[in-house]
Amino acid sequence: MTSKHILISGASIAGPALAYWLRRHGFTATVVERAPALRDGGYAVDFRGDVHFTVLRRMGIMADVERLRTHMGDMSHVNAAGKKVATIPSGMFSGDLEILRGDLARILYDATKDHTEYLFDDSITAIAEDADGVEVTFERATPRRFDLVVGADGLHSNVRALAFGPERDFIEDLGVYLAIFTLDNHLGLDHTGQMYGVPGKMIGVYSARHNTEAKALLYFGSPPLSYDRRDVEQQKKIVAEAFDGVGWETPRLLAAMGDAPDFYFDSISQVHLDTWSRGRVALLGDAAYCPSPLSGMGTGLAVVGAYVLAGELAAAGGDHRAGFAAYQEAMRQYVAGCQKAGQGVAKWTIPESRFMAWFLNQNYRLLPYIPWKGLMIRSVRRTASAITLKPYDRGRA
Ligand SMILES: Cc1cc2nc3c(=O)[nH]c(=O)nc-3n(C[C@H](O)[C@H](O)[C@H](O)COP(=O)(O)OP(=O)(O)OC[C@H]3O[C@@H](n4cnc5c(N)ncnc54)[C@H](O)[C@@H]3O)c2cc1C
Repeated sequence: MTSKHILISGASIAGPALAYWLRRHGFTATVVERAPALRDGGYAVDFRGDVHFTVLRRMGIMADVERLRTHMGDMSHVNAAGKKVATIPSGMFSGDLEILRGDLARILYDATKDHTEYLFDDSITAIAEDADGVEVTFERATPRRFDLVVGADGLHSNVRALAFGPERDFIEDLGVYLAIFTLDNHLGLDHTGQMYGVPGKMIGVYSARHNTEAKALLYFGSPPLSYDRRDVEQQKKIVAEAFDGVGWETPRLLAAMGDAPDFYFDSISQVHLDTWSRGRVALLGDAAYCPSPLSGMGTGLAVVGAYVLAGELAAAGGDHRAGFAAYQEAMRQYVAGCQKAGQGVAKWTIPESRFMAWFLNQNYRLLPYIPWKGLMIRSVRRTASAITLKPYDRGRA
């Protein structure tokens, strides 16, 4: 093998999943993560269809994922008084198997920590490539050499910025912002959630960790905003102003936001690049092809991408040029389908006008009687399964 030791930036989903497969194929991985420890909290993510499940099974983590699944039921669409006006089937927002992102990250970390070096509280500052490898400098650790570097560091990827250029060249803002945080389950929700919409805004609350807590979601349509991504108080102020005067549970949610332990705020965006590798550096997961949180596809793409990237590198005998090219070839169409599925969702989730809000409400009301509602769920599942997985490691343990 020509490429043996691979540095991965990001210890969420894509990074540890890649570390797992690299080890299975005989490579060594080091993962550098900017957070001081594994980030446990977070929102629910989901898997859909055969391909996602096949990869989880081949990793041997299916039972762990099943054990921690959220078991969410249908959601209610409510009016300002909190009265249910429509039921949204769980398959439409929870996929076939839903789990908290932090729980999944922990499963992947546990499956890799004994054979993968994790460097927390650090970040790459420079990547210099030469004929034999890459010289990497870090904020804290001393400089080191690796054979390859993979950026699995999310929508605002550091590796992408260092090796490919500024993120404005690759991020497509879909015109919606999202805040999410944990709070008390004060509505007493039992494996369910409630949603309330007004033009340009959607507010949701769902129970988590078997009803011991809840997650609040606040979506609002907006042109691109300029703010400091590290300044949480500034972001909370933006959200509070955007939802000022909105009814239902919104004032209570905004009050809880002040003390939220795990506030998350970002634009709903997609990432598009012509090529996911440059020399000895490649991108994976949201860093390479974020389909947007509203697509429900990002986690599956990250896990499938990790399987394919490691498999193609191994199939190429560690030749990164051939391996990276084959990874892109194998994934390109699949990614395009998943991203396409995510594109229209923002418009449908956060209606811009009063008319669209009314129209959507009618649709939600009619949903139980619409014969093709199963078709919608099946169509997303088909998109999530539209890749043929090569066996790569047949015969290897
Ligand atoms: C609110 C919300 C809801 C979502 N719902 C769903 C869903 O229902 N279904 C679904 O499939 N997907 C969903 N997603 C998307 C899903 O979370 C992502 O697509 C998935 O986590 C991608 O994983 P990743 O590892 O590529 O990136 P991320 O999960 O974003 O992880 C990136 C990691 O890199 C780290 N990092 C960042 N910068 C640096 C740096 N400089 N150095 C080192 N490390 C760094 C971060 O701390 C993080 O740990 C949702 C996302 C959000 C935000």
